[in-house]
Amino acid sequence: MKMFDHHIHMTSRTTDDYRAMANAGIVAVIEPAFWVGQPRRHVGTFEDYFLSLVGWERFRARQFGIRHFCTMALNPKEANNPDVAPGVIELLPIFLEKDSVVAVGEIGFDDQTPAETKYFEQQIQLAIDFELPVLIHTPHRDKKAGTTRSIAVVSASGIARERVLIDHNTEETLPLVLESGCWAGHSIYPDTKMDEPRMVELVKHYGSWHVTVNSAADWGVSDPLKVPKTAQAMLDAGIANSDVETIVWKNPVTIFGQSGRLDLGEAGERPRVDQTELWEGNSVLRGQKPVIAAE
Ligand SMILES: [Zn+2]
Repeated sequence: MKMFDHHIHMTSRTTDDYRAMANAGIVAVIEPAFWVGQPRRHVGTFEDYFLSLVGWERFRARQFGIRHFCTMALNPKEANNPDVAPGVIELLPIFLEKDSVVAVGEIGFDDQTPAETKYFEQQIQLAIDFELPVLIHTPHRDKKAGTTRSIAVVSASGIARERVLIDHNTEETLPLVLESGCWAGHSIYPDTKMDEPRMVELVKHYGSWHVTVNSAADWGVSDPLKVPKTAQAMLDAGIANSDVETIVWKNPVTIFGQSGRLDLGEAGERPRVDQTELWEGNSVLRGQKPVIAAE
């Protein structure tokens, strides 16, 4: 089964991860622009980060047979830093024009401050202006209130619900999101938030309509194979193949396909690997023999 991990921060992961993901059936990934673990002090640091998401990281994924797309935004946490936030918002329009940028995100609430609300609203407007979907992060603290408030911001903006994915859901928030008409993402983590058995129960109860799963893997304790592991857990629990396929492939393709930029080849096939290719003169190899897939 082909799989699409629509929320994973590959910049923080290794080439071993790319290999394991490709072997497990992952054909495409989306890397949302986000928080890097410590506050950034310069707008220029964001610019270089954004350039790497549309440049080097996209190349690196392809070298292992995975299509890489990204979403661009000022993340919710750094919306609270007045030294960088306005400058990042000014940078965004250039990046929202790029071919591999398939949504505005991740935006939303972290601490649910007035500054977060302001930039959340502004960035939904950017999504409307650029005719892009949005990826909304829901907070770890006070999640239910944060989700309700996010749905209210979405409603007030006038953006079509079909273009909105609200992520990191739990048992408490999934029914709210489904009722709103937005898409409901679930980040499957080791030990916390949401795991495979709980996700199986949610799908048994609510079905596959508007439901997605992702790994949200990054530099913290996380697992880049959570999408294939969850797909297997759903199949083992007797959930129909067609429902599993809807969750791990068709739904993310539908959501982000609305950007008009989700190039998955003729039929969602893997990109052809040719490790003799270079990116601005640089290779992923360190003297190893390049892999070149047969035509
Ligand atoms: Zn994330």
